[in-house]
Amino acid sequence: MLFYGTTSATTDYIICYYFCRAKQVSKKMKRNCISTIQTLLFWLFALLCLTLWVIYVISDMIQLRYKETERQRQPRINRKISAYYYGTDHYYEEYIDRNLKNQVVENKHENQTNLDDIFISVKTSGKFHKTRLNVIIDTWFRDANQQTYFFTDTDDDGLSKKTDGHMVNTMCNSSHIRRDLSCKLGAEYDFYIKSNKRWWCHFDDDNYVNVDQLVMLLRDYDHNMDFYIGKPSLNYPFTTTFKGEKVGFWFATGGAGVCISKALAQRMKPWCSNGGLYRTSEHLNAPDDCTLGFVVSNRLAVELTSSNLLHSHLETLGQLNPATLTEQVTLSYGLDNRNNIIQLQESSHNLPISKDPTRFRSLHCKRKPDTCSRVHRTKSG
Ligand code: UDP
Ligand code: MN
Repeated sequence: MLFYGTTSATTDYIICYYFCRAKQVSKKMKRNCISTIQTLLFWLFALLCLTLWVIYVISDMIQLRYKETERQRQPRINRKISAYYYGTDHYYEEYIDRNLKNQVVENKHENQTNLDDIFISVKTSGKFHKTRLNVIIDTWFRDANQQTYFFTDTDDDGLSKKTDGHMVNTMCNSSHIRRDLSCKLGAEYDFYIKSNKRWWCHFDDDNYVNVDQLVMLLRDYDHNMDFYIGKPSLNYPFTTTFKGEKVGFWFATGGAGVCISKALAQRMKPWCSNGGLYRTSEHLNAPDDCTLGFVVSNRLAVELTSSNLLHSHLETLGQLNPATLTEQVTLSYGLDNRNNIIQLQESSHNLPISKDPTRFRSLHCKRKPDTCSRVHRTKSG
C-alpha cells in the first residue's frame, strides 16, 4: 500500500501519457481508466512479490533437503563429526549425561585415591566384541565394573546387558586408521571430563588390568598436579610437524595403558575437548596416543612419568619374570604371528593354552582364587 501511495503520482503521469491521452476520451473515462490501470499494476506488483517469496521458500527447502541427503551420503566418520564434534546435534551430550548420571564425583573427599576416583576407558571395536571383550568381562572388568566403560563403534545389546550399559557407541568408524582411533580416544577424553573424577586411565582391549595395583600406583601421585603416566615405546622423542612447525615429544604407547591426572586433563582442553583431540591428531598427522603425548609433553611441557608396571605387546611379554606378574598394573598379548604371551608359573590355577590363549584367565584365577570357577567355565577368549 505504501508503494502504491508513493508511486501513484508517477504512475498517473505514465498511464496518462501512454494510454489515456486520446482527446476524444471524456474526463470521467480518463479517471476510470487511470484508476483501473493503477489497480491492475498494484495487483501485478503484489503477484510478483508473492511469486518471488514462493520461489525463495521453495529454493530454501530444496537446499535444506540437498544438504540433508549430502550428510547422509557422507561416510560415517563425517556424520559423526558433524553431530559430535561440531555440535549440530546434542546426541553425544545427552548420551554422556545419561550414562554418567550416577558416576559424577563432586570432589567428595580429599583423602587418598580410591577406585571410584578413576575413570577407566577401554577402546574396542565391534569386530573384537567376541574375541577380546569376553575375557576382560570375565576377569578384571568385574573388579571395576562401575568405573570401566568400553568405547566401541557399534551397538551390542548382549554386551550392553552384560556390562550394565557400559558400552559406549562412539559412532566412530571401525578401522585401525589414525582418524578412527583418534575419534574414539577423543570420545573417551570427553566422557572422562564429564565424570569429574581424579584420574583418567585409557586401556586397549588386549590389556589385562590389575585394578588393585592400578589404584596403588595412582595413590603415589597427586591428581591436583599434572601427571601423565605411561610407558614410552620409543627410546627417543617422536618428531613430526604441527601446522608447519617442527615438533618433537615423548609419548606413552596406548597399548600399555595411560593415566592422566584431573589437573592435567583440564589443561588439555584447548587441544582435546569436544572433539579437539581428533582435530589435533589430524593437524599432527599422528596416531591417537602420539597426539596425547604431543598435547601433554609439547604444548603443556609436562614430562611423561614412565612406569615399568605397564606393558604392551610391543614388549616380549614372555620375558617378564613370572613371579612378578601379579604385581604388574597392565599386561597384554599378541596372538597374531608369533605368540607373545606372558609365561605363568606352574600352578593348578593354570588352564591349558587352548582354553586360555591370552593367559588372562589363569592369571586372574591365581590372583583371585574365589573367581576361578567362573573364569574357568567360560570357553571363549
Ligand atoms: N582398534 C579399533 N579398530 C580397529 C582396530 C583396532 O578400534 O580396526 C582398537 C582395538 O580395539 C585396540 C586398539 O585399537 O583397543 C589397538 O588395536 P590392536 O591391538 O588390534 O593393534 P595394535 O595397535 O595394538 O597393534
Ligand atoms: Mn594391541
